[in-house]
Amino acid sequence: MRRFLQIVGGLLLALVLVVVGAGVATFGGLPPIPDGQDVAGVARVVKDGYVAAFVLDIGDGKVALVDAGSDPAAGALLAELTRRGLGPDAVTDILLTHGHADHTAGIKQFPAAIVHALGTEVPLVEGRASGHGPLTRWIPAKDQGIRVTDPLQDGARVTIGTRTAEVFAVPGHTAGSAGWLVDGVLFLGDSADATKEGTLLGAKYIFTDDAAQNHASLLALSERLAPRRATVKALACAHTGVLEGGDALFAFR
Ligand SMILES: [Zn+2]
Repeated sequence: MRRFLQIVGGLLLALVLVVVGAGVATFGGLPPIPDGQDVAGVARVVKDGYVAAFVLDIGDGKVALVDAGSDPAAGALLAELTRRGLGPDAVTDILLTHGHADHTAGIKQFPAAIVHALGTEVPLVEGRASGHGPLTRWIPAKDQGIRVTDPLQDGARVTIGTRTAEVFAVPGHTAGSAGWLVDGVLFLGDSADATKEGTLLGAKYIFTDDAAQNHASLLALSERLAPRRATVKALACAHTGVLEGGDALFAFR
């Protein structure tokens, strides 16, 4: 019996070490989310626990969001709106980078908003498909009542108040992961992470459907935006903050 307990204890310790090791390898050394940071005069970072959403002034007392955070009550986003003297109805549009719950949970607090996402991501956003990543495959799909009201194709442009948003397919982290380019700021969601050294990493493996596809998609996006390189003012990542300029994307290998 004692021998059995020793073996079980040893296995449990090994499991804990693997989990902690994976956590350190995944999150260690990455910069924290800079709550409240202005992003090139286009957006403001709103830290919602371990993920960022972004609020964009679109004129006329209205705002758009890039993603909607991990909090179903959208506490941090609503507080940011209050700070601006606005209520939830001021949010006219939500640009989704992808359908993971830590990016979509707050959507229901903004019923007036049009929800834009790539058409290929709709099943994940709406809880009709689950992820395929090492970790995400174990999370069952669940319909939370969230709906994409504007499914888009790669390359589509959307006019939102005073701003124009352009969507780029960057499949890999999820099948329908999107990068959004809004007035020079490229929002990458979880498709990439910023490092403290100012470089760009691919998506975190354990949450990612297809890491090789994610890598190829980032290279393709870099090539695609290269002719417009001078217009890229910032790269905004959902878990690791913002890099100034676009150099890190164009140096990505
Ligand atoms: Zn994700």
